[in-house]
Amino acid sequence: MLYSTEKVNTKYIVVVGGVMSGVGKGIATASIARIMENYGYSSTAIKIDPYINYDAGTLRPTEHGEVWVTDDGGEIDQDLGSYERFLSKDIPKRNNITTGQIYKRVIDRERSGKYLGKTVQFIPHIPEEIIRRIEEASKGFEVAIIEIGGTIGDYENIPYLFAVKSLSRLEGRDNVAVVMLTYLPIPSHINEMKTKPAQQAIRQLSEHAIFPDIILCRAKAPLDRVRKGKIETYANIEAEYVISAPDVDCVYEVPLNFEKENLGKKLLKRLRLPAKQKPDWSGWRKLLKGITNPEKKLRVAMVCKYLDIGEFSLKDSYISVSQALVDAGAREKVGVSIKWIDAKDIQESGTECLEDVDGIIVPGGFGSSGIQGKIEAIRYARENNIPYLGLCLGMQLALVEFARNVMCLPDSNSREFDPENIHPIVDYLGEQRKILEKEKFGATMRLGAYAAQLKRNSKVARWYKETGRLEKDRERLKNIKENFRLGVIDEKEPVVLERHRHRYEVNPDYISDFEESGVIFSGFHRPLQGKPLMEFMELPNHPFFVATQAHPEFKSRLEDPAPLFVGFIRSILSK
Ligand code: GLN
Repeated sequence: MLYSTEKVNTKYIVVVGGVMSGVGKGIATASIARIMENYGYSSTAIKIDPYINYDAGTLRPTEHGEVWVTDDGGEIDQDLGSYERFLSKDIPKRNNITTGQIYKRVIDRERSGKYLGKTVQFIPHIPEEIIRRIEEASKGFEVAIIEIGGTIGDYENIPYLFAVKSLSRLEGRDNVAVVMLTYLPIPSHINEMKTKPAQQAIRQLSEHAIFPDIILCRAKAPLDRVRKGKIETYANIEAEYVISAPDVDCVYEVPLNFEKENLGKKLLKRLRLPAKQKPDWSGWRKLLKGITNPEKKLRVAMVCKYLDIGEFSLKDSYISVSQALVDAGAREKVGVSIKWIDAKDIQESGTECLEDVDGIIVPGGFGSSGIQGKIEAIRYARENNIPYLGLCLGMQLALVEFARNVMCLPDSNSREFDPENIHPIVDYLGEQRKILEKEKFGATMRLGAYAAQLKRNSKVARWYKETGRLEKDRERLKNIKENFRLGVIDEKEPVVLERHRHRYEVNPDYISDFEESGVIFSGFHRPLQGKPLMEFMELPNHPFFVATQAHPEFKSRLEDPAPLFVGFIRSILSK
């Protein structure tokens, strides 16, 4: 269920960051949510992004990492992806709150006279709107974990900290707990773990009249008694509530580490909740073992673009794709390492860099840079029987490669990269065309979940069936409220639901040409009006050459990996 409407009294756990960002607040929030769920409490997680952007839709991936897409078409910070992967739940866009959204609603309401002539002010109106949004997203859940992005001390955090204080007053102290994640450095010249920055962060939080109930201490290693004691003395928090968050090889270890120090029980006690059940982590542990102690290892090339920002390489731009490989690998007990390849390097130096990989992925992307390198990688996979998985742009380019090299249409291209092309085998269609012709790039994407009907005997249908996803999606389809997402579906056929984020589609004028040349379109979406949109393709006589217009990585969870990623890995193993 995307959101529940049941009336329950919600308890709130607010997660704030001390010292600096990038220490794993998203994973800590996701882990706490999962812990509460395992104690029997229906939980959700909410992300607050204190930026002015309305959502993450216009953010470059190298700015903030990947843009996450929800079923209901939200374009959101990647932390929501962690929440879904840990909770095994679909989370809607209302669970992401930005400063842009808060101010926009307050100003819109002021313009329409909703404040009845009052002066509209930072306090109380902004925190009021923040609380309204938190309550809206929490409705129907017993526990809501709220992650406040950024770090205490950021000016942008002030309205949210004010709102937390008000929430605690309105809901009662027993109903709101505060967790602070802080960082303890070990400077190499003294080789000693320092607690001072954590102490200062606690003090800074107390300046907002907020006192943390739990301190999570991210560091290279778990904290010893001495450090816990220091935090207890200087920050006045009992050592028992100071919990280690040591570095881990795999993020799925984090909830288990927290539970070693009984984080769940301590939070329940603080919120005056009894444990409804004894948490069972056995399934989780088994999957984790598949990741940390794999029986086999394989190497996959990710041929992509958003890798370089100055001196840094930002793999976060593809976090869902790499996590989907981890999730699928966990089920198969296979360790998947990724060879990151900048497509431009293939353009300049050829496909030699692909010779030592077991499979190739071309993930989603926008704009023309590196396109030729991606096409060459796809050709290499097709001609050398290397398993290939194409995601969104990876499907569009698989078709461009096929048209050029198999169908003898050397000039064919996607209209995105060559607007005047005479063979635009990937094009923009219908309504999107009208909007784009007016040079308006906002609101032109197909966003969120869409149903796709699969060809019964296709490889794609096989993977969805074998992984049990077909059954799960049948349930999900019943909860989709927006008819355009379902389109026209044939109940008797296999139908799946995957998320989308793209402007262009396979040009229907070329579908029969592709099919005559050997491409199988293994799934399509039939819109309420207009021609069917191709959602999946595969090549017969190849161990695994499968691509999709969707982003199946947005539906991957540790406990329910994405079927195409499982298929991709199994095909590599059986080669
Ligand atoms: N740029 C392509 C489009 O807009 C593909 C987008 C993507 O890969 N997400 O259709």
